[in-house]
Amino acid sequence: MNKKKGRVFSGARPTGRQHLGNYLGAIKNYVDLQKDYDCVYCIVDLHALTTVEDTLNLKQNTNEMVLDWLAAGVNPEETIVFVQSHVPEVTELHTILSMVTPLGKLTDLPTFKEKVRMQPENVNYGLVGYPVLMTADIVLYKADVVPVGIDQAPHLEFAREIVRSFNHRFNTKVLIEPQMKNTVIPKVLGIDGKEKMGKSLNNHIELAATAEETKARVLDMVTDPARIKRTDPGNPDICNVFTMHKIFSPQADIDMVNVECRRAGIGCVECKTLYAKNLNQELKPFREKRSELASKKSLVDEILQDGSNRARKIAQKTMQEVREAVQLP
Ligand code: SF4
Repeated sequence: MNKKKGRVFSGARPTGRQHLGNYLGAIKNYVDLQKDYDCVYCIVDLHALTTVEDTLNLKQNTNEMVLDWLAAGVNPEETIVFVQSHVPEVTELHTILSMVTPLGKLTDLPTFKEKVRMQPENVNYGLVGYPVLMTADIVLYKADVVPVGIDQAPHLEFAREIVRSFNHRFNTKVLIEPQMKNTVIPKVLGIDGKEKMGKSLNNHIELAATAEETKARVLDMVTDPARIKRTDPGNPDICNVFTMHKIFSPQADIDMVNVECRRAGIGCVECKTLYAKNLNQELKPFREKRSELASKKSLVDEILQDGSNRARKIAQKTMQEVREAVQLP
């Protein structure tokens, strides 16, 4: 058996059915990391409470997201998959860590300012404490490594500062400073070809959509805007359809589109139909597995229950050490 390199922690908000952007940006990496690390993947439902719209259908969204993870290859036999609020120790650690976190730093974070701008009617305390709860998530499970994209790197650096501050203040080494695992997170554009793929913009393609729904979404994709007539040569280098071909199509199709688009040898409808066919082909095993898993009604609940039992064991041990370090009576 391979010796693992350490423990990875990652959290994701319960956003329901996952789309291609989620797959390429996170889920694929979740699956790959399992080879080398003991993985702890958490559905961060408490974080979701900071934004009003996320609180609708939390259970349903959790269920759908877990089904997608499992169908994509997250293996709950090895990996701990659980829901943040099922391990209440995280809120206790959050409170303790908040005592060593300067308020000024929290309110200065660009992400906090951005949230204030986005939801001025709901600037709640949870938004300010978000990075502290995130730190508690990571260190509660003694994670060695956290996979982060470049835009998340400052958050992890801040988490490391909180850990150092805690260890220094209580003269302990109980909490582990998590290391950053720089992860290239590709920016997957939506079918509008402009914005990052996301549900809120309705520019996404769900992994679990039917083949017909997928084809319809692909046919709606925006292509090279300079290509107006079928006889106009196109530029695949600026076309999102070609970008996606490069991820999901066989090399022969990629090469063909690369040549034929430039000399108007292939039309955009034909090109998108080919991409839809290849994408559906790639997603076929995922969809079959997902349907099979979804037919087992209590499966996700059982996996999450088992995951929270395993996570809680680690959490309780950490909290015992933390309480001793803080000398709580
Ligand atoms: S032929 Fe394909 S790559 Fe070229 S512009 Fe049309 S959709 Fe894009």
